[in-house]
Amino acid sequence: MKKAARVNWNAIEQEAADLLSRYIQFDTTNPPGNEAIAIEFLADTLRERGFTPQIIESSPGRANLIVRLKGGPDATASPCLLYSHADVVPADSDNWSVPPFSGQIKDGFVWGRGALDNKGLGVVFLQALTLLKEYAPPLNRDIILLIAADEERSSRYGVTWLLDHHPNLVKAEYVWDEGGMGLKQPNNLLYYVSVAEKKALTIKLSAQGASGHASVPRTDNPHDRLIRALYHVQHWDQPVRLTEPVVKMLQALAPQQSFPHTFLFAHADNPLLGSLLRPWLKKNLLFTALVRNTINLTKLNGGQASNVIPAQAEAKLDVRLLPDEDPESFLAALRSVINDSKVLVEIESLPVPQALTPTNTHFFRALTETVQTLGPAGQITPYLTPGATDSRFFRAAGMKAYGFMPMLLDSQELSRIHGIDERVSLANLRWGIQVVFETLQRV
Ligand SMILES: [Zn+2]
Repeated sequence: MKKAARVNWNAIEQEAADLLSRYIQFDTTNPPGNEAIAIEFLADTLRERGFTPQIIESSPGRANLIVRLKGGPDATASPCLLYSHADVVPADSDNWSVPPFSGQIKDGFVWGRGALDNKGLGVVFLQALTLLKEYAPPLNRDIILLIAADEERSSRYGVTWLLDHHPNLVKAEYVWDEGGMGLKQPNNLLYYVSVAEKKALTIKLSAQGASGHASVPRTDNPHDRLIRALYHVQHWDQPVRLTEPVVKMLQALAPQQSFPHTFLFAHADNPLLGSLLRPWLKKNLLFTALVRNTINLTKLNGGQASNVIPAQAEAKLDVRLLPDEDPESFLAALRSVINDSKVLVEIESLPVPQALTPTNTHFFRALTETVQTLGPAGQITPYLTPGATDSRFFRAAGMKAYGFMPMLLDSQELSRIHGIDERVSLANLRWGIQVVFETLQRV
């Protein structure tokens, strides 16, 4: 890290902003994605910098980029993979204060869809990789940069496709992904490093009956049946339960709490104190989704005319299970709560089997040390991501995936992700590159 003194950070920051601005201008809204043209642009940039990137198409217009920085002659450890996705979610330009695919640089920010999620992270990785090549002493492992398609939809043309068709190209001990971040709060700063995710599944409920004229009441109206079932689901209380990543998270946050929470958090693994902590966790906005299974009714389908009793009614539930829950047992419990054999309960999409990434690793220590050395001062804590990222596929393939966007964001900046006026500050780009550059030298 001694040579890092020679790095011209102002130039690196400006270069990152310019690169991100141009990358945002390739509209990779998914669907349809069209990542290939943006991937080609990144590959050109890498070639200019002396790398040999590989472009792998999973389908016409859907491309993935892989580039490898070789470790030194004595490298023995298996690789570390930096992962970012090239696709973005749609942006409704009417509500934006700048055109969402303009990549404008103003007021110290790069603006546009993908600035944070996830093109900004891709540029941070790319800049750090360039610096490692130019300034770092020989590394003890290869660093792979993967920029893939289709994270925002199914990952079918991106990560899962690569894991199925080219597993050796992306095989690594560690994966650095999105999922956590540096969260600025009014009185403190928390560095959330995601080590697990909740399990997402979709469940379909359906009821059948005989269609007929609405002037004649029937006892088997499928709408009535479905509503009764949903009523039971709504009133099914999901118990609060602390899983390992949440216990670690509470313990890490303990010093910043006031009494009695400082004590309760520190002893979160003590079941006797759990009864005091659980009601509070259930009501807390941050924790409520992290300590129990959640069920949300997201779709209702049924009926064609207001004077016809339909033959069929259907509802979809978005379910997020705690990482160690078994989907089949959950389904059995759901069926007994509904308690109506005429309501069909089916799993539409099963979650990927989850693994928990350990924190007693070289990677976690290296990241912790880097953040503590670089500052600003804050608490580093493992984190359970309530949503889903591609980390679940890497974990299922046996890799240790960590979710940490190396940026310092407050809740207002965070809400721009998938929202309006997404942007990233130049200061965050610079800090992120420093974090990645230094962590990878330590790991
Ligand atoms: Zn993302």
